Order: sequence, then C-alpha cells, then structure tokens
Amino acid sequence: MINKQDLIVIAGGGGFIGGHLVARLRELGHTRIRSVDCKPMSEWYQCFDDVENWQLDLQEKGTCLQAAEGATEIYMLAADMGGMGFIENNRALCMLSSLINTHMLLAAKEHGVKRYFYSSSACVYAADKQTSPDVVALKESDAYPAMPEDGYGWEKLFAERMCRHFSEDFGLITRVARYHNVYGPNGTWEGGREKAPAAICRKVIAAKLSGKHEIEIWGDGQQTRSFTYIDDCVKGTMMLMHSEVEEPLNVGSSQLVTINQLVDIVERIAEIQLKRNYNLSAPKGVRGRNSDNTLIQQRLGWQPDTRLEDGMEQTYRWIYKQMTAI
Ligand code: NAD
Repeated sequence: MINKQDLIVIAGGGGFIGGHLVARLRELGHTRIRSVDCKPMSEWYQCFDDVENWQLDLQEKGTCLQAAEGATEIYMLAADMGGMGFIENNRALCMLSSLINTHMLLAAKEHGVKRYFYSSSACVYAADKQTSPDVVALKESDAYPAMPEDGYGWEKLFAERMCRHFSEDFGLITRVARYHNVYGPNGTWEGGREKAPAAICRKVIAAKLSGKHEIEIWGDGQQTRSFTYIDDCVKGTMMLMHSEVEEPLNVGSSQLVTINQLVDIVERIAEIQLKRNYNLSAPKGVRGRNSDNTLIQQRLGWQPDTRLEDGMEQTYRWIYKQMTAI
C-alpha cells in the first residue's frame, strides 16, 4: 500500500510512541521519514541521522503545512500530555492540542496526503463506566453518550470526530486508535508527565539505590488498569493505519492488574520489598479501566503479545540505566 520511498511524517516523533514508530519504520526499510517535534532535539527519546528531524511547533497552521508537504502518510502523535498528575492539573494545555490536530488535518487535506493516523486515548470513555476496580472492559461503543475525562479526554474525542468528518466531507482517509496506557523504554519517566509503570519503576529504583526502602503509591493501590507494551502498540498502530477500518479501535491490553500488583511485579524485578505509603489525596484517575479487544481482534487479528512482567522488565532496565548514568 505504501512504497518504501514514500514520505512518512511522524508528528511528535521526539516523544515516546512517535520515537518508537520512527525506529520501526526504519527497520522496515522506509527511506523517507520526517520526524517533527517542538522539543529541542537533545530531548528527543530517539533521533536518527538518516531521518529528516525537524523542530517545529505544530500548533501553527503554517508549520503543519511545512511538515506535511510531500507526505504520503501522516502519523499524528504530537500532544501536550502526561500521566494523571499532569492531565488533571493542566486541562487547558491538554485542550490546546486541538490546534495541532486541526491544523495538521487541514495541511493533510491541502497536500493531498493519502492516509492520516490519529492517536486517541481510553480517556474518551465516560468516568461513570469506570467506577469499580473489577470494571467491565471498555468497548468502542462505550464512548457514547459522551462524558470523557475532563480536558484531555474531550480534546481526544473532538479530534476523533474531526478525523471522521474530514473523511466523510473531504475524502481524507483517517484511522484512529484509542491507546490504553502504553509503556516501555525510551519514554517519560520523571518530571511530572510520566505514567504509572515508569513512575513505579523510578520509585523502586530510587528506593533500591538510596537504601530507604519505602515507596509512595498514589491512591489506595486497589485501582485497576491494563498496560500495553510499546512494541505491541506500534504493531497495532501500523496494522490499523493500513486497514480498511474506519471507526476508532481500542489498542490496549486486557490483562487487568491493580496498582499494588504492578508494584509487586517491579519489586520482583528489583529483588526488593518496600514499605508502601498510600497517598490518598494524590491524583488517581478512574477506579478501574480495561480494554475490550474484541473488535480489534475481529477486524485486524491484532492482540498484544507481551506479558506485563516482560515489558516491565525492559522498562525497568532502561530507567535504571537513565538513573545510574553518570
Ligand atoms: P509524548 O509526550 O512522549 O509524545 C508527544 C510528543 O508531542 C512530545 O515529544 C511533545 O514534545 C510533542 N508535542 C507536543 N506539543 C507539540 C507541538 N505543539 N508541536 C510539535 N510537537 C509537539 O507522548 P506519547 O506517550 O508518545 O503519546 C503520543 C500520543 O499518544 C499522544 O497523542 C497521546 O495523547 C496519545 N496517547 C498516549 C498514551 C500513552 O499511554 N502513552 C495513551 C493514550 C493516548
């Protein structure tokens, strides 16, 4: 469907998922990749010499037109986002990401781009469907009637609708994934935007290195989540991009764990046991969230291959290296 010489643009290529997508496209032999991000290149998680690396702020329409010029496909992964601590306290910033997707859709239309991928989120699902730890897994139709996560989730749902209407009205082929908690190496692990898997690895490593054998856990540790390893996410993303599936699909894992169980896993990797201090006033997000993968299995035959224990081991090892690098 796409030639190895066609230009592929990764918006947000300096970030976690975007960086892995660039790496995978290179491995697959694509020779024209343009990676675009607003961060200084020294802060990109992955940056390759044989890729066009551009530092641009994609909130502007002009920069989107520049970034999209000549592209056959665009993967839109640029967003102002983070874990619960960030999105609960920065709703306006999260919503400003609508400028990025809106302007890039317009640029894609103007340049006649063939396919456009948008990275949505499980945060589009209504909180009242996620009030119990033994939550019923969320299926795609649960997004409506709409009452997403305030700020970040509303922006994601709005962008999903924009993609749909750009397809219907202008014939731009758009594909939308709803990611569920993606984790792995080469992603945010400190600074306030990190998510639970990276934050827990960092805290366990810090306890191990300092000899202070305690850990702070946000909430009571009984809240449940499922976590998707980055390699599975990238595979699902590329399969969805090149499929004929027009509606948003969950790209997630259905292996549900409590945050306490996630800490157990990391403690086993670190060969340590810590005293757990529960911070009940910290941001905790919904009580339980899981991904129903029936539709993506039916439509694409995709399912995650990586066990949480294995993915967390890779993540732990990478964060350990960052924390002990001189
Ligand atoms: P990330 O923060 O690592 O990457 C996003 C990148 O976008 C960052 O490098 C950032 O600098 C860049 N960016 C932000 N504003 C920009 C702008 N104005 N112009 C250009 N670049 C800009 O996040 P990620 O985990 O790689 O997430 C990628 C996408 O997937 C995002 O849309 C995110 O909302 C979505 N998503 C991620 C997860 C997850 O668990 N990681 C879950 C659901 C949805």
